[in-house]
Amino acid sequence: MLWSGWGDPAKAAELPERVGELLTALLGVRPAGPAVPLGEVRLRPVALPAPVLAGLSDIAGHDHVRFDDETRIRHTRGKSTPDLLKIRAGDGSDAPDAVVLPGSHEEVAALLAYCSGNRIAVVPFGGGTSVVGGLTASGHGFAGVVALDLSRMNRLLALDATSMIADLEPGVRAADAERMLAGHGLTLGHFPQSYEYATLGGFAAARSSGQASAGYGRFDDMVMGMTVATPGGTLRLGRAPRSAAGPDLRQLVLGSEGAFGVITSLRLRVRRAPAEKVHEGWRFASFAEGAAALRHLAQRGPLPTVLRLSDETETMAGQAASEVTGGPEAEGGCLAIAGYEGTAEDVRTVRERVSAVLPGLGGVPLGEGPGESWAAGRFAAPYLRDSLLGAGATAETLETAAFWSALPGLYQEVRQALQDRLGSPLIMCHISHVYETGASLYFTVVTAQADDPVAQWERAKEAACQAIGRAGGTISHHHGVGRDHRRAYAEEIGELGVAVIRAVKDRLDPAGVLNPGVLIT
Ligand SMILES: Cc1cc2nc3c(=O)[nH]c(=O)nc-3n(C[C@H](O)[C@H](O)[C@H](O)COP(=O)(O)OP(=O)(O)OC[C@H]3O[C@@H](n4cnc5c(N)ncnc54)[C@H](O)[C@@H]3O)c2cc1C
Repeated sequence: MLWSGWGDPAKAAELPERVGELLTALLGVRPAGPAVPLGEVRLRPVALPAPVLAGLSDIAGHDHVRFDDETRIRHTRGKSTPDLLKIRAGDGSDAPDAVVLPGSHEEVAALLAYCSGNRIAVVPFGGGTSVVGGLTASGHGFAGVVALDLSRMNRLLALDATSMIADLEPGVRAADAERMLAGHGLTLGHFPQSYEYATLGGFAAARSSGQASAGYGRFDDMVMGMTVATPGGTLRLGRAPRSAAGPDLRQLVLGSEGAFGVITSLRLRVRRAPAEKVHEGWRFASFAEGAAALRHLAQRGPLPTVLRLSDETETMAGQAASEVTGGPEAEGGCLAIAGYEGTAEDVRTVRERVSAVLPGLGGVPLGEGPGESWAAGRFAAPYLRDSLLGAGATAETLETAAFWSALPGLYQEVRQALQDRLGSPLIMCHISHVYETGASLYFTVVTAQADDPVAQWERAKEAACQAIGRAGGTISHHHGVGRDHRRAYAEEIGELGVAVIRAVKDRLDPAGVLNPGVLIT
């Protein structure tokens, strides 16, 4: 992973000249230049004394405790646009003092006990792709901060093909999980845009949702069980597909973002690998018309595996990009993508039924071209963000969800708030996940960078968060809370809700060393 941006540096995307010209003409963007060299990132000296570092080595092994500059920089914050703007400018002030790579549940448990005893803050670190400040722990009042990198815990532990469940370690990346399961003819079906780098533990800890959630469900739907190491002891949760044995403690750990404990193994529901995958495009005259069609499918069926709808601006931007890059095309209106996965028979049947329903709801079939080019290019957008940053444009995303009846108001309020704060930004949106009762909205915002682009975005983000609250949306559908949504989350769950979360944390993590400042204050 590129330390100052996204993904494999070999796949870096050059911004086409024409797009650069358009950005200048439409948004007044001026080039911002490249990231500082790695050697110029400013770091605090390591705060942990040698005997404490030796204590960590005694547990995890000498080779698995690192505090060289590059390793610390690579574990600084996550991959939100403000995170990237800061690190590109050489600001390494949130770097951990050391990075520890445990190899087992027992080592994690021992490290948590050690860190609790020595007042060392611990940040569980999966793929490092958090976009909500989930990896930026506050070291204030602690002897230092340690990132607990789970990448060595990357095995498929067991497979129960009768029950269709797999036990996996938390550091397995989504792409590797698919490779491991493919050998058994199985799939997890979790394909977020961060698929190549994000890990199973991170998905559970942040309640992730993948692009094929209409067919496979959200990640939290897949979690049948888990083992969680906490300073207060080990939780072993989930022994049946469903249970009436009291409140479901798995739900307490899902979304807890490392503030309660470290997930050291996951028991996940798996599915048979699809024999066929087909994606197609549909055009609707307006976002409202397309949303009504998606609601129809979500409530009455048939439901494709992938179902998403871009608004007019996102469709237009996609179209402009396609002229340059060969991406999806939709000839105006709003582009919807429907994907079908399963046996050839499943794919044919569901596709035929969808094709029979959508024309009556205003849908115009565009065939497989736009669908397949969306599928082929769907992991490429984060690379483009790096080029936009260099070109002087801030490109950032935010997401929310609401019941269907509240969705149009939510869409308008968020757009208005962003416009009021940013002048004339490019605001694009799509419906990214659908349910019987509602859907999520995913916004992408592109604007010219101000002199202080981090403060500029933070003001816009705060306005958008307030708009989400006013319009009755949730502060996050799938990115989580982290530090960035902490205030809005507290408002969403209320004072009593915060007190309940606090009480759970105090019992599991009495010294408060786990990811301090994330989720709640
Ligand atoms: C370009 C890009 C695209 C993205 N697309 C999507 C998308 O389509 N869908 C989506 O849901 N999200 C998306 N995300 C957000 C991010 O990928 C998810 O939040 C993901 O769940 C994080 O996984 P990770 O392994 O990178 O976790 P990290 O970023 O390493 O950690 C996330 C949080 O979980 C905690 N944590 C990590 N591992 C554990 C563990 N084992 N036990 C306890 N706590 C742990 C961390 O401390 C942190 O608070 C995207 C992010 C980027 C940068």
